[in-house]
Amino acid sequence: MRFYGEAVLKLSKQPPRDFAEELKSLVEKLNKEVLLKGAKHPEDGARITSFVIKDDEIFFNMESGRAVPIHVAILRIKNNLAPILGRKYKIGIRSLLLKDVRIELDEEFSVGVEVPIVEKIETKEGQTVITLKPLEESLLQKPILQRLISLIEEKEQRKRWGGKIEHWQKIKESRKKRIIFKDDPNVILERIGWISNIAPGQWFFTPPFTYIFRKFEEMLIDIVLKPLGFVEAIFPKMEPIEIGLKTGHLKGTPNQMVFASLPISYNIEEFEAWQDYVSIYGEADLEFLQKFVEPPKYYLCFAQCPPFYRFLSKTIFTDKHLPLKWFDRSGPSFRWEGAGGLRGIERLVEFHRVEIVWLGTPEQVIEIRNRLLERYEYFMDKALDLEWRWAWVTPWFLVHAGETEEMKEEIDINQPGTIDFEAYLPYKGDREDHRNWLEIGNISIHGAKYTKAFRIRHAAEKTLWTGCSGFGIERWVLAFLAQKGFERDSWPETVRKYIRDIPRGLEASNYPRPQYFDLKKLIERRVGIKEHGE
Ligand code: ATP
Ligand code: ZN
Ligand code: MG
Repeated sequence: MRFYGEAVLKLSKQPPRDFAEELKSLVEKLNKEVLLKGAKHPEDGARITSFVIKDDEIFFNMESGRAVPIHVAILRIKNNLAPILGRKYKIGIRSLLLKDVRIELDEEFSVGVEVPIVEKIETKEGQTVITLKPLEESLLQKPILQRLISLIEEKEQRKRWGGKIEHWQKIKESRKKRIIFKDDPNVILERIGWISNIAPGQWFFTPPFTYIFRKFEEMLIDIVLKPLGFVEAIFPKMEPIEIGLKTGHLKGTPNQMVFASLPISYNIEEFEAWQDYVSIYGEADLEFLQKFVEPPKYYLCFAQCPPFYRFLSKTIFTDKHLPLKWFDRSGPSFRWEGAGGLRGIERLVEFHRVEIVWLGTPEQVIEIRNRLLERYEYFMDKALDLEWRWAWVTPWFLVHAGETEEMKEEIDINQPGTIDFEAYLPYKGDREDHRNWLEIGNISIHGAKYTKAFRIRHAAEKTLWTGCSGFGIERWVLAFLAQKGFERDSWPETVRKYIRDIPRGLEASNYPRPQYFDLKKLIERRVGIKEHGE
């Protein structure tokens, strides 16, 4: 990897001859010391190959290697010259510009990068050459060239992986369970009026479904979380954009996030034109509405745990404060899944999740994850009697070239990574086809990813890790109903203990649709809805 370019230092006035003489020895010193600092081999450092003073500008032709990228080098040059120019010659440095930057990478990359600083990217004979537009000093202060190179490498890797962004490997599974039900609960729930669609991926849950939904949440808390000492907190659900910037979601999944905007003003008078429009036309012109809202400063809850890290930002822990074990179930998550991907309560735009989070030393975080796995296994296998399997999935950003190949046979799960919990959905077809399984939850160890990004620290500088686990309530209910059906008598004992008196839902002349009323009666009898006055 080589960098080439020309830096222009603009001075407050033309320097005298003395300085021109002195600059020769200064450059020699820069080349021998300052520009090699941090480089193991001289070729990894930077070098001024030639320089010239013209009027009030100094031009440096430069070349550099990986350890001291060219923009870092020119800042070092400026910082070294500034005091000499100032003190001795009373000359200030007005501006700094880096021109004709060329980066040569020793690999052919086939991906492009769409940022304004890139002039062109060309590949030939095993090399990639990136040419940049002139860079102002404010840009040089950021690790902008390093980021550009990482981005190209990352995009190339993603491209080589194709559409497959996750590595999937089964690590545990239940025995095959007796399947007593083949129908699609999504369809049944809608026909009997327990759920009702209001917009793509958004449903109204009536009391009978809500009751079952809450009981699943309660079972999780009683059976998995309380025995392990997890306590409840309430996390905000509208997250400032900076949080998503730090977690990486804003970069990784902007196509799935629902953004939120504030009104342009709190002063209602500024909305007069809008109010007049709605009064006269009686409709909402959405183009016009855009004039009255700001660009989005927020996104709606997406991964649910990020506000936890934001809250802990800059907190300093000692051993006696750790580990931290909390969970949040205070509100919905929102994900745009593309209109084609939505289906009943299987894939929603607005869904509910219990998000479990923990923080501690690496040993604590692994231990807690392992205790959670034990309780989860008991919950899904014994309490709910589901047919399930677990898979080790490594998000592509954790996959470094070659690493996954080595992990083929034996996976060490006691390291950062994610385990998905999947349940078999008999209504979809054969259990052999992976498309007939649904991810109902997952559990992750993040390593120091978030403690680093949010500066969550230990007083003795011990490494701190985090973990999280998402329990998608709709999906657990769906998986259960899909495998066990609506006949309460055939449900496992624990579930029967929790789900006893399902309340009645909406009953009106046309709700549920009359042709499904028999179905509703049948289901209600099976799950044991109490008759009025009983
Ligand atoms: P999928 O691969 O099915 O899209 P995911 O990997 O995007 O799931 P995560 O980001 O890991 O899901 O979210 C954790 C949990 O949240 C999932 O296991 C699932 O229970 C739930 N979940 C995620 N997306 C949805 C959705 N669109 N509708 C309902 N539940 C969801
Ligand atoms: Zn999480
Ligand atoms: Mg998803």
